[in-house]
Amino acid sequence: MEGCIFCKIVKGEIPCVKIYEDDRVLSFADINPILDGHTLIIPKHHAGNIWEISADDLAAVHRASQKVAQAIKETMKCDGIACLQLNGRAVNQVVMHYHLHLLPRSDGQPALAMTNWDLKPGNMDSIRKIAGKIASAIK
Ligand code: AMP
Ligand code: ZN
Repeated sequence: MEGCIFCKIVKGEIPCVKIYEDDRVLSFADINPILDGHTLIIPKHHAGNIWEISADDLAAVHRASQKVAQAIKETMKCDGIACLQLNGRAVNQVVMHYHLHLLPRSDGQPALAMTNWDLKPGNMDSIRKIAGKIASAIK
């Protein structure tokens, strides 16, 4: 897509630090790493978000994530990997080309805010009502 930075990376118009690719996906290092080993996986075909990406490309990204996560675990000797994927400006998606973040973290490193929320019991009536609405909208 015109003007999309990740499409430009796919086309080789701007460089990336490549980690893996197959016919459907490309994986490269994030240039603003939150932690060492911060890696992105994208579909080669442009899709902005989870609502636009094809099921086959979605599957390909997540199949590749298993392969790349295995390599990250072996090389970084991390204790855990967070897989983070943002859709929409409301949740701070900055690059509007679907991408999965792989964030390796070892015990003792700074906590990842997104993985570190307090568990507070919700209101079960509200939980059931909202889940019911979502369930009835499944196509
Ligand atoms: P977000 O859209 O918030 O999920 O995050 C976009 C991510 O893309 C950020 O972590 C950026 O550091 C990363 N990013 C942006 N441009 C590049 C680039 N040219 N090469 C590698 N990573 C990039
Ligand atoms: Zn794109």
